[in-house]
Amino acid sequence: MATTSDTGRLAERVASIDPAEFHGAVQAAAVAALRDGAPVELLDGVEFWRMSDLNARVTDTRGRRIAMLGEELADARRAYDQARRNANSTTNEKLRADYLADSEREADRITALEADLAAAEAQPDSAATPDAFDSDCDFLAHALAGLTVHGEHAPAEYVDALSRVIEFDAFTPIHTTDPPQVEVTFHLLLPADGRVARFGPITCRVQNRAYRNTLRDNGETQRARALMHQRLRQEGHADLDAAPHRAVDSLRDLLVTQLGWTRHAARTLATSGVGALYDIAAHLLWGDPLPAGLDPAYVELVTTTYQDPGFRWNPHRHALDCTLRQTAVDAVVAAGGHLGFTELETALTNTTVDDVRITVYSRDQTIGNGPTWHPCLERRGDWIQQHPKSGRSLAAATCPHCNGFASRVVRTPETPADLLCPTCRRMPTTNSPTYPDTYLTL
Ligand SMILES: [Zn+2]
Repeated sequence: MATTSDTGRLAERVASIDPAEFHGAVQAAAVAALRDGAPVELLDGVEFWRMSDLNARVTDTRGRRIAMLGEELADARRAYDQARRNANSTTNEKLRADYLADSEREADRITALEADLAAAEAQPDSAATPDAFDSDCDFLAHALAGLTVHGEHAPAEYVDALSRVIEFDAFTPIHTTDPPQVEVTFHLLLPADGRVARFGPITCRVQNRAYRNTLRDNGETQRARALMHQRLRQEGHADLDAAPHRAVDSLRDLLVTQLGWTRHAARTLATSGVGALYDIAAHLLWGDPLPAGLDPAYVELVTTTYQDPGFRWNPHRHALDCTLRQTAVDAVVAAGGHLGFTELETALTNTTVDDVRITVYSRDQTIGNGPTWHPCLERRGDWIQQHPKSGRSLAAATCPHCNGFASRVVRTPETPADLLCPTCRRMPTTNSPTYPDTYLTL
């Protein structure tokens, strides 16, 4: 019997997907399936309750009855055992007769419950679908539309309502596509004449972001990956004619076994797709010469960062998406590097950056167990008073090396300031190394 709790079994991380893309794909696939048709089965013993458009409930009456009978049966067996023990342990004949009578009553109850349970279990889980049945899907269309309207910020009531009517069966990583994808299989539970129809399977595919940077359509990344494949093949480490993720696994395993890096650090570097990181890995593993243009201070910083036994990074990919922060910084830089809070809000009107984000992006922020995000904009003016906001303003960070703006938001383990200067490719810290060009495209 299917229940939405099936998704709870997916404890193992199989992929990393973008919520907005995921919601959009599920919505599009569900709409297409409702329009074009999909297999459908009517579930017996399952009732559909509709309290409101956004509060649909599916009740598994058959499963609930089986569970209830099971509990009652266990209780009867306990009572029977207890009555028999009591009868055997007393020397009083009158009491002994009472206990034996009790145990016989419990034995009868056990027989009856066993019969009920067998009958409940024999009842079919689903029945043949009638040629036609009524199904009111307005609420579903409404909720699905909400998914795409709200993107990754869908309110809890939408998520709750949908989790009652969408049954996720599997998230299967597909490594044969470039970029890699995840195939999502799900069913819709639809109201059908007071009962429930299980509609599907419906499938859709979304990009597996866990491999995003390795496989991004980026000339440098493709080149770097091809070279690492070739190098690993020379070392006889993997059958790389198979799926592309094999190279990542081979490199990760080598970094763990040969250099003693943590698995997490090794995996983060192996999935990065940054040529310079692969060059450093090849240098450390096989003594390959480093490219002439690489700043030794950068090599040093990368090496100490990744070989640190306390390496912390979250989530499991090398360069994190900084689109929203970058949008905020770009707006400030476009205004000359300094802008009032309300003026910045106005400049960001048609973007998804709101005043809450401006506030968050201009202070330290900790997400999960990853290292703290540093502010990408500096606060100026009076931020102590809640109102008026007119006293507040934001400034782009100045690069201490070239006096430009450190205006590129780059979030990788080896760029701890989270900012780079696009002119001199250094962080706005005095001892920053110079980074390879690739970092400006991450
Ligand atoms: Zn600079």
